[in-house]
Amino acid sequence: MTVSKRVLIIGGGVIGLCSAYYCARRGFDVTVLERQSAQRDGCSFGNAGMIVPSHFVPLAAPGAVALALKWMANSASPFYLKPRLSWDLFSWCLRFWRASNAAHVRRAAPLLRDLSLDSRAAYEGLAASLGEDFGLAKKGLLMLCKEARTLDEEAKTAELACSLGIPAEVLDAKQTAARDPGVRMDVAGSVYFPLDCHLVPGRFMAGLETKLHELGVRFVWDAPALGWREKGATLTAVRSAHGEHEAGEFVLCGGVWSAELARELGLRLPMQAGKGYSLTLPRPRQLPQICCIFSEARVAVTPMNGALRFGGTLEIAGLNEDINPVRVRGILSAVPKYYPDFRPEDFDGVRPWCGLRPCSPDGLPFLGRTRKFANLAIAAGHAMMGMSLGPVTGRLIAQILAGERPAWDLSLLSPDRFG
Ligand SMILES: Cc1cc2nc3c(=O)[nH]c(=O)nc-3n(C[C@H](O)[C@H](O)[C@H](O)COP(=O)(O)OP(=O)(O)OC[C@H]3O[C@@H](n4cnc5c(N)ncnc54)[C@H](O)[C@@H]3O)c2cc1C
Repeated sequence: MTVSKRVLIIGGGVIGLCSAYYCARRGFDVTVLERQSAQRDGCSFGNAGMIVPSHFVPLAAPGAVALALKWMANSASPFYLKPRLSWDLFSWCLRFWRASNAAHVRRAAPLLRDLSLDSRAAYEGLAASLGEDFGLAKKGLLMLCKEARTLDEEAKTAELACSLGIPAEVLDAKQTAARDPGVRMDVAGSVYFPLDCHLVPGRFMAGLETKLHELGVRFVWDAPALGWREKGATLTAVRSAHGEHEAGEFVLCGGVWSAELARELGLRLPMQAGKGYSLTLPRPRQLPQICCIFSEARVAVTPMNGALRFGGTLEIAGLNEDINPVRVRGILSAVPKYYPDFRPEDFDGVRPWCGLRPCSPDGLPFLGRTRKFANLAIAAGHAMMGMSLGPVTGRLIAQILAGERPAWDLSLLSPDRFG
């Protein structure tokens, strides 16, 4: 098979840059087209930086809809769906509900496990090959539970993890404290996932971008892709305010905005923006060594080179980046419940950040070629796992563009799966 070497990647988030990296490493001539400036601060920058093989259960899972409905009633809860009259939203919810079943989890979990373990290994390689130290810490993750009931539930997930070959250990309060003496915790116990890691996302993105320049990748900033030029079943160019960008291969990595661009081509990539917030304390009063998740509150906590980032909330409220103070308060109020020495005043003057997670209705990314266009690949919809799955996604995109058969059956991730 002849492989065109000119690749245009749309989107400069973690998925776009990782795809650019592995394509450039194969000698492809790569250009990245990005809507924003080089100083962008989107989803791939302010996230919690967790690399999580422990997240092998997709968002659409049994009990997810009931939990979402329960949370909707509480303004400080980790989830909110802003009701609005939208056919897209309605059909997304319907698909989410349909996908939230045990058979879906059974099918998806082994693939998510394999992809995230491969990605973790790729991060180890990147830590050695990028000039920048992006703080990759292979110390595991603690799933902290305040209530015994939650610990019992998390213990079941731990059992499932072990059955899939992902080590997990159930710890009581004392064992949890011993695991991370950097912070005082008020919890019933935790589940420890030793293979999970954390890193500093902004540093990773900066290091990768520098490397891409070294590899000869071109960036076109402030250049939103506005439309496509097609010739039959082949795409020939993407239009932006800077003109037309011709290429032989196109990779759509536009995060949650990918849906709109795909729609112009008659492709259906149903996605909703799952807005999340983070707040970073530059000098926290205590510094945990291991990243953790407050299980009941669904708040992720990550030490990042002396700073401490708290991230959480999934708010489905359309394509906007407005800060909703109620959701931010939900995160802040959870902190002293798990870390009793922390005070609300610790966050005075800390500016909340928000980012839009690209959420597909079945909780799985879109990854692969489309049936309709021979030279278009999609890599989007990674929801809560974009940082985790960035390198493996990039590697797979490069393989697909080179005409190689990926190591896994990716049909569950097919961009055509919703028609
Ligand atoms: C609070 C929070 C915490 C998180 N924590 C974690 C975590 O710990 N671990 C993890 O794995 N994931 C985490 N995530 C999820 C992760 O951040 C995302 O899955 C990931 O960043 C998505 O990357 P992306 O490249 O697909 O999208 P984005 O980062 O959104 O990048 C898409 C890019 O495409 C550009 N673009 C869009 N449209 C166009 C266009 N028309 N033309 C040109 N460019 C365009 C955008 O400007 C953007 O730069 C978290 C997310 C949030 C919000």
